[in-house]
Amino acid sequence: MISRFLFYIPLIALFIGCNTAPESKIPTTALKGATLFDGNGNQTSNGVILVQEGRITAVGGAETEIPAGAEVIDVSGKYITPGLVDAHVHFGQTGFYDGRPDALDLRDTLPYEAVQKQLASNPDRYYEAYLRSGVTAVYDVGGYEWSLGLPASAEDNLDAPHVAAAGPLLTPVPQENLAVINTDQGNQLIQLTSPELGRERVQKQTALGATGIKIWMIALKDTVFMNSLHAVKEEVGRQNNKLIVHATNLDQAKEALRLGAKVLVHSVDDQPLDDEFIDLARKAGVIYCPTLVVLRGYNNAAKALTNKFEVQDPNNVVDAETKNRINSGHLFFKYYPNPEKYEENIAGESEYYEGLEAMMAANLKRVYEAGIPIALSTDAGNPGTLHGISIYDELEAMQQAGISPTDIIPMATRNGALAMERADDFGTLEVGKMADLIVLEKDPSMDASNFRSITHVMRGGLIRPVNVPFDKD
Ligand SMILES: [Zn+2]
Repeated sequence: MISRFLFYIPLIALFIGCNTAPESKIPTTALKGATLFDGNGNQTSNGVILVQEGRITAVGGAETEIPAGAEVIDVSGKYITPGLVDAHVHFGQTGFYDGRPDALDLRDTLPYEAVQKQLASNPDRYYEAYLRSGVTAVYDVGGYEWSLGLPASAEDNLDAPHVAAAGPLLTPVPQENLAVINTDQGNQLIQLTSPELGRERVQKQTALGATGIKIWMIALKDTVFMNSLHAVKEEVGRQNNKLIVHATNLDQAKEALRLGAKVLVHSVDDQPLDDEFIDLARKAGVIYCPTLVVLRGYNNAAKALTNKFEVQDPNNVVDAETKNRINSGHLFFKYYPNPEKYEENIAGESEYYEGLEAMMAANLKRVYEAGIPIALSTDAGNPGTLHGISIYDELEAMQQAGISPTDIIPMATRNGALAMERADDFGTLEVGKMADLIVLEKDPSMDASNFRSITHVMRGGLIRPVNVPFDKD
């Protein structure tokens, strides 16, 4: 662990004593020769980035002066962007059905309580997969209360991405129906039954460090829920927190925006967006987080039950346990409720999801053209949407929806930092920001698939190749 405090001391020393403390005494790393994409939409060829004490101290073109004694890393011909930010993940979910018994019940073999206990005591299980996929920050937008401890514990850990977390979700779904995805240790989903409960949850979760209070669906006709939700909204304002809303249908999404939601998660997939939605989104100042690939992830998880889901992981970054679950998926086929209809169901689901994805893509294009901020987000942890590597599928899906690869870069970096309320710290290549960046072989502004050509990740000034396991001692 490297104390965050230590990052500041030498910089202060430099500013107040520049006559006596020559620059060369502070170790400097210079990345030289790459094409830089700063995350704000700007591009510099043959660029130079200077890094000291985990922070960016200079960014510019070839004319940028490199101090004597700097460690110069020649990245000529390569491409650098800020570290990617995945604005929608769940550390309480595994990428397979063991984390979602409501989707397929494997509890006889993999008891949910045990799975959750293991996740709570090893919250770092997916960190390396994120960093080695180029993701240097993630937003956990819903989980058990322990997820609220991750932002602090991950912050100065250079083997972890930065984390922001929302904690338990508030929902109109009756508590008894939620039992399957809660544990005896606590609830990640809490039925919102009264204004008092709503206020109490907002206060408690804010005190525990929640960045955002997530609402898991809006039941427009449930007056008890809606009254309680208004109390939540008021309390969120008092606590200087913000609302995150899961909304996949247009009416719910609009209501979320009227309530002032700052983050809208998932795409609207039931009908085309209309002008009213766009107006409301603009007024609310919302960030739209599309999670385009999570549905096909469910289809892939089902395919894994007959070993027909091949994980694309050339750098071998996915954690061994996840890989093992997916690769031994056939062991769980016995839990499939109607095996004789398996093939038919898979094909039917695939077709159904393709229809929803087409609507999601068309709506994303509309949001994009209206200039509403969009943040890259995967919903990783859901079955078939693996922590870390699913980012590439999502980037490609965004491009397929009609977003230019150049415009995807800020969505994949700066906008996620904005959603996490960390834009002052990371998300762009600017002087004073944390030195979180990635090095690519191929130009991401030509094709979003080129993010797959990542060779190195830098987190807090520490640069490492992504095709080699981290050396942790
Ligand atoms: Zn989610």
